[in-house]
Amino acid sequence: MPDKYIVLDRDGVINVDLFDYVLKKETFEFEKGSIEALIKLSKNNYQIIVATNQKCINLGLISAEGIEKINNFWINKIKELGGDILHIEVCPHRDEENCNCRKPKTGLLIAAEKKLNINLKESYFIGDKLSDLECAVSHGCKPILVKTGYGSRTFSSSYPKETKVFENLKAAVDWIIN
Ligand SMILES: [Mg+2]
Ligand SMILES: [Zn+2]
Repeated sequence: MPDKYIVLDRDGVINVDLFDYVLKKETFEFEKGSIEALIKLSKNNYQIIVATNQKCINLGLISAEGIEKINNFWINKIKELGGDILHIEVCPHRDEENCNCRKPKTGLLIAAEKKLNINLKESYFIGDKLSDLECAVSHGCKPILVKTGYGSRTFSSSYPKETKVFENLKAAVDWIIN
């Protein structure tokens, strides 16, 4: 079976959004059912790409290496349990830097496509913020909103009409796979 790709936001989707930055691995807490969901995607030949805004880096709250350590920590946990994360793209920039990668811009997806020589158009993109959904639509991905993290707030405002909505990552993945 050919590989399929799926894009996931991190905070509020995979892990509990602290409504603050995750600056150490001890405060990285998986959302209920998200470990199971990630493993299910892997077992069903989905290659997982994570696209995450982490302006805490350029705010000087943590180094890029510090963020990488936190990501290695949770990705290793998923690997130990039989899942995999193919690739993670991080935007370190603050809003006012006006970079090309901070979502809703699509630079993270373009960077992943170039590095991996893949195409993410038509892939699902699961996020909790409007910026995730807008990024998905701009790039030609299929937007999915989860109600975890900022998701319930996003759900009660306006978002792209083609968006599918689920309670959490687990419910979204169950729908995708079944
Ligand atoms: Mg998020
Ligand atoms: Zn950026």
